[in-house]
Amino acid sequence: MEKNNSVMIGDVVFAPGQRANVNLPVADLYTATSLCMPLQIICGRNAGPTLFVSAAVHGDELNGVEIIRRLLRRKVLKSLSGTLLAVPIVNVHGFINQSRYLPDRRDLNRSFPGSARGSVAARLANIFLEQVVAKANYGIDLHTGAIDRSNLPQNSGKYGRCNDAGAGKGVRRPGHAQCERS
Ligand SMILES: [Zn+2]
Repeated sequence: MEKNNSVMIGDVVFAPGQRANVNLPVADLYTATSLCMPLQIICGRNAGPTLFVSAAVHGDELNGVEIIRRLLRRKVLKSLSGTLLAVPIVNVHGFINQSRYLPDRRDLNRSFPGSARGSVAARLANIFLEQVVAKANYGIDLHTGAIDRSNLPQNSGKYGRCNDAGAGKGVRRPGHAQCERS
């Protein structure tokens, strides 16, 4: 079988067969606390596509966090072909504060593509896009109903390579009109 490629996240290169937790620095808060986005990378030994799975872009949408926790416990990941990038909590600040938003009340899902020197939301969007989405061939971003909000089951997405998908933009289901973003 063909060997998998190494993956660079931040300034660290992960080799085939490596599994690691990474804390990507996002910004320093006014409390002098560093805000990071934690992710786990599982770089399989054998070649295959790269998939990202993320949750809690909206910090009060919790189901995806547990889904990723259970996914990361699965033994099948030991024989993974390709690479998995798992981000259980994208919006750590919102998650801690049980809030959909970031400290400046910005909605991360409306902040893409973001920028390296913008607001906390812009920086987080930019890091997520460059360090996770751009490294992947496919991606699943899990959302759910939040506090005082009901969501019917739905999937919305761009059914092609996600490298150029532009995370957070309005998306279209095949044969359907423009879907609402959740
Ligand atoms: Zn959401």
